[in-house]
Amino acid sequence: MKILLFGKSGQVGWELQRSLAPLGELVALDFDSQELCGDFSRPDGIAETVRAVAPDVIVNAAAHTAVDKAESEPEQARTINALAPARLAREAGKLGAWLVHYSTDYVFDGSGSTPWVETDSAGPLNVYGITKLDSEDAIIGSGCRHLIFRTSWVFAARGGNFAKTMLRLGQERDRLTVIDDQIGAPTGADLLADVTAHAIRTAVLRQSVSGLYHLVAAGETSWYGYAQFVLNFARQAGVTLTVAADNILPVPSNAFPSPARRPKNSRLDTGKLQNTFNLNLPSWQTGVARMLTEILEKAP
Ligand code: NDP
Repeated sequence: MKILLFGKSGQVGWELQRSLAPLGELVALDFDSQELCGDFSRPDGIAETVRAVAPDVIVNAAAHTAVDKAESEPEQARTINALAPARLAREAGKLGAWLVHYSTDYVFDGSGSTPWVETDSAGPLNVYGITKLDSEDAIIGSGCRHLIFRTSWVFAARGGNFAKTMLRLGQERDRLTVIDDQIGAPTGADLLADVTAHAIRTAVLRQSVSGLYHLVAAGETSWYGYAQFVLNFARQAGVTLTVAADNILPVPSNAFPSPARRPKNSRLDTGKLQNTFNLNLPSWQTGVARMLTEILEKAP
């Protein structure tokens, strides 16, 4: 099996390089790859790359993920998040290749408090969410065989993330305020990559699994709950924090005004994914604890 991976250096792309390698021949590209175009701001170049490589499976981990920045550069976000994936879908359809793509909880408006299922109506609140929803529609509409995984609150040991920011602030400040009215599930890039590899294996044997799936770790929390978990873990691991446990305070979203509106209810129901692929999704705490262990072991 020949697999073409785009966005190899992002959080998910990096983990995919590991999890996809045993499945077959892997061609992994970045936006600045030299011989083949991996730059999603050039949809024509991306289409040429697909034709040149002629893969069995295309995995797209590239995206414009700067949610606030997307509000002031909507055309760039649209090209990278929607137009280039639409070209991928068209080329995949012509080749008969599978297209694996990632989308987001931000396609929903965040109303209510029950977990969203795949058939619920979308209603994105920001440019990023709109462009990701457009990518889903283009891929599904193209008729190519596809796996679209909607996920949320992605973290990885590599690169910057919310947990690392909390660890830093917890060692600099004596008081922290964290948003407690957005609810979701922190999901590890490693989990996403491992489930992707498993799903590809299933898909090549059973084409009927083509579709859209919610893929997040089990359980739910707020950013405030996430921060408390991170700082408690650090304290127990012997990290000296300047912030006391009772000086980590919950605040509503409007305490941190930002250019992009974010949904409050980001709960995603993963029943369809677990049933279709016969998978069990571990709790978000399992993944975050593992990442923290890696980070803290590396710290000087
Ligand atoms: P990252 O931002 O870590 O990775 C995205 C990658 O795409 C980065 O390497 C980025 O490069 C690259 N990229 C940016 N612009 C271009 C371009 N023009 N051409 C090619 N590559 C480009 O994101 P994640 O790994 O976390 O995201 C993977 C997928 O998951 C995406 O589809 C995202 O929308 C989705 N997702 C992510 C969530 C999150 O919390 N991160 C939540 C929900 C869904 P550079 O870093 O240099 O800009």
